[in-house]
Amino acid sequence: MHAANSPSALPFLPFARPTLDEAMVEAVSDTLRSLWITSGPRVLEFEQALSAYHGGRPVRVFSSATAALEVALQVAGVGPGDEVILPAQTFFSCANAISRTGATPVFVDVDPVTRNLDLEAAERAITPKTRALMPTHFAGLPLPMEALYELAGDTNLRVIEDAALAIGSRWQGRPIGSFGDVASFSFHPNKNMTTIEGGALVFADEAEAQLAEKWRFHGISRNPDGTRDVLVAGGKFNLPDVNARLGLLQLARLEEFIEKRQQLVARYFHNLATEPLCELPARGDRGHSWNFFAPLLRLEQLTWSRKQIMEALAAQGIGSGISYEAIHLTSQYRTLGYQAGDFPHSERIARCTLTLPLYPTLTTHDVDRVCDTLQSVLQQARG
Ligand SMILES: *Cc1c(COP(=O)(O)O)cnc(C)c1O
Repeated sequence: MHAANSPSALPFLPFARPTLDEAMVEAVSDTLRSLWITSGPRVLEFEQALSAYHGGRPVRVFSSATAALEVALQVAGVGPGDEVILPAQTFFSCANAISRTGATPVFVDVDPVTRNLDLEAAERAITPKTRALMPTHFAGLPLPMEALYELAGDTNLRVIEDAALAIGSRWQGRPIGSFGDVASFSFHPNKNMTTIEGGALVFADEAEAQLAEKWRFHGISRNPDGTRDVLVAGGKFNLPDVNARLGLLQLARLEEFIEKRQQLVARYFHNLATEPLCELPARGDRGHSWNFFAPLLRLEQLTWSRKQIMEALAAQGIGSGISYEAIHLTSQYRTLGYQAGDFPHSERIARCTLTLPLYPTLTTHDVDRVCDTLQSVLQQARG
């Protein structure tokens, strides 16, 4: 068995890691030296670059995607008495952002293969109170966009795409966010590009982008006499220039980062194709940006728990993660009446998922090491 006191000579591979180069470190230092460190000209420059990437659509950046989701809901006028439909298998931010507006999150199961919102189940969950759909492009795999927007159009619902994992993902060749209603991106260090913390909204409409600026910064607007007015009870969700400067250089390398992710994932598929103890994720097409790679463990054939497997991997220098728990079963959302068994696919994914190392500075040799280690641990775990 693995012994915690016999450290492997090989470097530890976390499940996610940002890619930062010297030019980025220099640029951030340069912005610090300029003494204009919070939101200013670099934010405008970053918003313009993101807009150009998304077909010229209006873009506003935020301190996180969690903040961006909350603002997107506020801009859409979602509030108390409203319902917003979201998958039970996604990150907690989505449900919390909905709740913080006073609206009610309505969970729906996901498709067991793509792990994206099950659109037929979403349709069945629509009530007269439903105002919006908030689907996640799971791990960067785009939802079927025709079907999503057909449903939204037929039912007159807003769509706030949680594209936290999907900057650089494409659907039929077009970047996610360059079409559709509102898309929200994250620049957390685990995502496809980073600003340390940060997020962005891409809008279809300039008036909504301007309203988002109000919700982003205290609700402030300028009066003609130079004094300030408050139009809405806004938050404090602006992105500093230091972060925006990093974002500009990250965006310039985004396509390269994604190509590398896709190459590494091809290696994972090659190595694990015949591993009977793993169920591999949906492969999608070339538009999948692969923010993370998370097979499902066939725990019913194993005597070890997932936690034991993760510990055995860590002892051999392999980091792993859980993306994600089923949100409806968290303490906060059980209070709405949800219980185990409500969403079997989301719950099975939550139980069996294991996120393996994937980031642009990983090598195919590292992927081979991860797969060899995982396969030997799974053999032991079989008992
Ligand atoms: C990371 C993440 C978010 C939140 O992004 P932050 O920038 O950390 O607030 C939202 N949804 C999903 C699916 C995520 O993975």
